Amino acid sequence: MTITALMPVYGRCEVEPVRGDGCYLYDAEGREWLDFASGIAVNLLGHSHPHLVGAIQKQAATLMHTSNLYKVPAQANLAQRLVDLTFADTVFFTNSGAEALECSIKTCRAHHYAAGHPERYRILTFSNAFHGRTLATISATDQEKLRKGFEPLPDWFHVLPFGDLEAVKAAIDPSIGGILIEPIQGEGGIRPATQAFLQGLRDLCDEHGLLLILDEVQCGVARTGTLFAHEQYGVTPDIMAIAKGIGGGFPVGACLATEHAASGMVVGTHGSTYGGNPLAMAACEAVLDVVTEPSFLAHVNEMATRLRAALEQMIPNHDHLFDSVRGMGLMMGLKMKSDSRAFVNHARSHGILLVAAGDNVVRLLPPLIIEEHHIRECVDKLSAAARAYEPAVAA
Ligand SMILES: *Cc1c(COP(=O)(O)O)cnc(C)c1O
Repeated sequence: MTITALMPVYGRCEVEPVRGDGCYLYDAEGREWLDFASGIAVNLLGHSHPHLVGAIQKQAATLMHTSNLYKVPAQANLAQRLVDLTFADTVFFTNSGAEALECSIKTCRAHHYAAGHPERYRILTFSNAFHGRTLATISATDQEKLRKGFEPLPDWFHVLPFGDLEAVKAAIDPSIGGILIEPIQGEGGIRPATQAFLQGLRDLCDEHGLLLILDEVQCGVARTGTLFAHEQYGVTPDIMAIAKGIGGGFPVGACLATEHAASGMVVGTHGSTYGGNPLAMAACEAVLDVVTEPSFLAHVNEMATRLRAALEQMIPNHDHLFDSVRGMGLMMGLKMKSDSRAFVNHARSHGILLVAAGDNVVRLLPPLIIEEHHIRECVDKLSAAARAYEPAVAA
């Protein structure tokens, strides 16, 4: 037998963390990494945050799981808190981002079905999007590496060039019920939608009775310096999927919707065994306690400004390697002039964890609790990694 006990679907690197503390990860030998990956935008309070750990410990000892067959007060409370904080009127809790997208897609479909238009079952999406790894969500992108081996996939989605409003206009026909987009593409290479594009999508949705579905799984929950990224665009969705940061490391996601959009989500249309269990709700409440503190977003914005300035200052010293900085808040991308994956691998040996993305971008997704000294350390480590990398590039 050659297959490993763990299904070999990941090409894992050598880093083997066993403990985390704040912005650092440690392996069994005590090696330390500055964690500017945050488990891919998940650990927004860093590792072992006392308020989050305390909330989970307390809830685990009280009640972990019951069932959605019963009333779950913690779920109703958190839903109300999210409704109060956002555009939404109603919330469904999931265990992951892809599940939050599945619920968002079903909400859109159910809306048109309930309105007597079951033929409006298709959704417009965008090239290089990432919405998860389920069959529906891999159908929603044109990324070959996600789709390969799983075709034929259903025709529920029509993928268009990111940023091309004219293509969107031309693609709207009686089969289209909604538009799904990441306001800032994450996996695709930290590519923010322009103001004109996102506003244009909103206007087209209003004009044609389509639902605007935002995937804020990566860019949501304070990551970009507002609680949700769309707030900075002044564009309000009808449906929004969130996950990653909202649990701070506990697996949880949610689909948020307006009353109008959720018109078809009646008893029996959707469900989840674990979704919204008391333990997950306690984790979310703890994360929200911290990120809604009055000074929290100001801190994120201050650190984002400093990190961007520090990276921009670093680029000219290694301008054969680095091209530019892009992104919003602490969802930052460093565009490389060569393979970003190779540089991320190399940077690990200099004690910093980053994440590669499409378009040769290195993603910097630090915990939102970083301080100035972490930024200095990040740039020192990136510079050292870049200096040691130069011969390899020249060769
Ligand atoms: C990570 C991610 C997802 C999928 O989330 P999972 O929890 O891995 O299912 C969906 N959309 C975006 C934008 C993401 O970054």
